[in-house]
Amino acid sequence: MLGKLTGFDDTIVAVATAPGIGAIAVIRLSGQQAFPICNSLFPAKNLDLQASHTLHFGNIVHNGKIIDEVVISLYKGPRSYTGEDVIEISCHGSPYIQQQIIAATVDKGARLAKPGEFTQRAFLNGKLDLTQAESVADLIASNSAASHQTAMQQMRGGFSKELHALREQLITFSALIELELDFSQEDVEFADRTRLYALVSNATTIIQHLIDSFRMGNVIKNGVNTAIVGKPNAGKSTLLNTLLNENRAIVSDIAGTTRDTIEEILNIDGILFRLIDTAGIRDSSDTIETIGVQKTMEKIREAGVVVYLFDVNELSAADIQQQIHGFETDNVNFLLVGNKTDVAGEEAARAKFDGLPILFISARNHDHIQELKDKLVQKVMAGDINTEDTIITNARHHAALQEVQQSLQDVKNGMDNGLPGDLLALDIRRSLHYLGEITGEVTNEDRLDYIFSKFCIGK
Ligand code: GDP
Repeated sequence: MLGKLTGFDDTIVAVATAPGIGAIAVIRLSGQQAFPICNSLFPAKNLDLQASHTLHFGNIVHNGKIIDEVVISLYKGPRSYTGEDVIEISCHGSPYIQQQIIAATVDKGARLAKPGEFTQRAFLNGKLDLTQAESVADLIASNSAASHQTAMQQMRGGFSKELHALREQLITFSALIELELDFSQEDVEFADRTRLYALVSNATTIIQHLIDSFRMGNVIKNGVNTAIVGKPNAGKSTLLNTLLNENRAIVSDIAGTTRDTIEEILNIDGILFRLIDTAGIRDSSDTIETIGVQKTMEKIREAGVVVYLFDVNELSAADIQQQIHGFETDNVNFLLVGNKTDVAGEEAARAKFDGLPILFISARNHDHIQELKDKLVQKVMAGDINTEDTIITNARHHAALQEVQQSLQDVKNGMDNGLPGDLLALDIRRSLHYLGEITGEVTNEDRLDYIFSKFCIGK
């Protein structure tokens, strides 16, 4: 695998900190020439003679000119992020200095790193598997407590461990089938079909759990589209403002003034709700309003959760029943919120809509807004997914897992129809292939070795 990659022997260099001016910037080099290159620019000490994981203070000098006073951190491979020799130069944060140091290292033989190349090398050197490498990117991009936690869990290998266990089970299955093939003349039965069924069914359950977690993973990573809908004057803009605690949307007494869809983001318990304020839902002869209504319908279909807000003083219980029916027919994940309870009182509202699953609030008075936030979280966290479980956040993993599941289904169908072992083995290999795609493992490893390590034929 390594041999096919070009440029792998190069020593790469890049600024590891954010672009722009900061107090300090870090320039990272990785590769066989990292030490010689830095040695030629760092007269204070011979870096080759220093221990790994140590810091060294001195000047970076190039063509007789001092560029900066820096601190150099040494990581000798394989005990480094990439598995190669790595040097990090902490310099002053001026973009000019950074650029000068980079140019000096390039002059001495380094090459500018491509995006993700340090992590790619870590993967190629077996420091990380593919899912862990991907989670490094997720971790860097994480913008909420929840997305940070899942990326961190994945980087530590939680997901890989689960996949590894699964792979072992499938290899066992494959091994059993192939043993039968090898010994078919002798009519040896290594595995009764009941055991094979159990193996496949167990694997299917685990994979289904992972596949199901993607909905949650997606919510955690990308946030959830949240539409606040309801008739004009229900108080949608007021609620939006209350939730966001700022006044971006237009609040007006004139019906239907909120014509645009405005997106705002709310962070509740570490989950990002992308709030879409929409024009009111109603029949209208006004063209602009009709476009607004159409947009609203589209948004509702796209939304992960829909907050239906209504004025408790205006609508009847029958209206709400009808609304519920509509949402249920369209398979919408909805939350019913009765607004303006301050007018006639909360008790009166409760009595009026007795038995209906409504959360009563006053957007204007900020009554029960915390409950509304809690309910929103519950709505998107619904299901038996536990945040401690492995959660799939990556669409590539999700797609591959669906392929694994399909292959396993084919194995099961194959067994039901009494397919010969070699055909079953094909489907199993297909599922192993897709699993291997996720972690980046080579899938056609020597299965026979595995058989003999687990089974003793002579006994
Ligand atoms: P939208 O058309 O659904 O966006 O509704 P608005 O947010 O523009 O609100 C319409 C009117 O209802 C405004 O005059 C708001 O001040 C008023 N309103 C909103 N929430 C409440 C509430 O909780 N209680 C009362 N009494 N009035 C409210």
